[in-house]
Amino acid sequence: MGHVRYRKTMFLSGHYNCWRLIYTLLATAQELLFGKKLFFDWQLGDNWALKSMEILEKDLAAAKNDRKENGSPPEYVHRRQIVWFNAIGFLVLHLGALYGMYLFLTSSKILTILWTLLVASASALSVTMGAHRLYTHRTFKCNEWIKALLVFGQTVAGQNCLYVWVRDHRQHHKYSDTVADPHNASRGFFFSHIGWLMVRKHPEVIEKGKKIDMSDIEMDPYVMFQKKYYKVLFTTLATLMPMFVPFVLWNESLWNGFFVCFLFRLMAVLNLTWLVNSAAHLYGNKPFTKDILPVENPYVSMFGLGEGWHNYHHSFPWDYRASEFGQYFNLTTIIVDFFEEMGWVWDKKYATPAMVRSRVTKRGDGTHYKYARQQLKDDGEPSEPVADDETYEELFWLEGRPDTISERTPEAQKG
Ligand SMILES: [Zn+2]
Ligand SMILES: [Zn+2]
Repeated sequence: MGHVRYRKTMFLSGHYNCWRLIYTLLATAQELLFGKKLFFDWQLGDNWALKSMEILEKDLAAAKNDRKENGSPPEYVHRRQIVWFNAIGFLVLHLGALYGMYLFLTSSKILTILWTLLVASASALSVTMGAHRLYTHRTFKCNEWIKALLVFGQTVAGQNCLYVWVRDHRQHHKYSDTVADPHNASRGFFFSHIGWLMVRKHPEVIEKGKKIDMSDIEMDPYVMFQKKYYKVLFTTLATLMPMFVPFVLWNESLWNGFFVCFLFRLMAVLNLTWLVNSAAHLYGNKPFTKDILPVENPYVSMFGLGEGWHNYHHSFPWDYRASEFGQYFNLTTIIVDFFEEMGWVWDKKYATPAMVRSRVTKRGDGTHYKYARQQLKDDGEPSEPVADDETYEELFWLEGRPDTISERTPEAQKG
């Protein structure tokens, strides 16, 4: 019964969210085109937008007060400044990527298609497992080979150097959805998806960004090497290597190599990654922490290698699974577990069912798979049958049940 209730909620919200997504895109387009609301109102019957605009306004007021107290000009209000070079650049890249998708579907050799999929998934995995779960959150330890491989793959993904990636993401967790968050989802879908790369950074983002603790990263030889030679590495590994392998090995044209293996592949992985910042902060339920924006989104998880269980991830950022049910729509966790079996990964950190239960009953929104019952009772509403303990335990651990349990408190978590 628990299953049914959970799935039904997700399904219904999926349809509703589709319209909300279309609405958000239209509203954002008009804002970008005209610089103001002409035809659509952001807040028209849109609860999340109303709520997030409130957060934004509160943040702005707080920042304003901050400045006043520090003796800076009192009329501090951030005005959005579009960086046209980036905005037009991203438009051109996306048009090229669409053409690449067309070539991918119509004129590429079978081997080229397989190669593109391989490069896309391996580089995406290096981002989720390497940049995110290993370097940003330090959720497990691994040997030098794995580290070098992940830094290599992250370079192929072309998502800026690891140093900047990790700093931005630590800042995102520390100041989630406030003005100091680089991709503040309170500013809507478009801004948190890609818009944040097309405008000047908010002053608070710059200021708080300088204070993010990066001492552990500065001691990592792989990351610092990549930072130092990033331009050369990007050109050879993200651009030339994916293009020339099909050209040399199976005589694919360089034209296809450029548009399919480089541009289409790069932009597709980028957009999947951005969905974690946008869709997984807006569309879904919040079983673990109801007073934050991040949500549980199975669609993002499916295509984002398990990074869409985002309400859980923001509740337990130090958990290597980045989700409650480790291997469910979570390819990254499956791969980490596989490497652990090989003995290359160890010291994985994760929350126990007891910790999850405590969090859900204290701060969840009542949609949790199992523990919502307790909450419904507290609210005085009728309780519904939920999964029994055995089913839940099975789902929680799946096959990868480790022998020892290591626990960390969220306070011990860096960044
Ligand atoms: Zn997030
Ligand atoms: Zn994270």
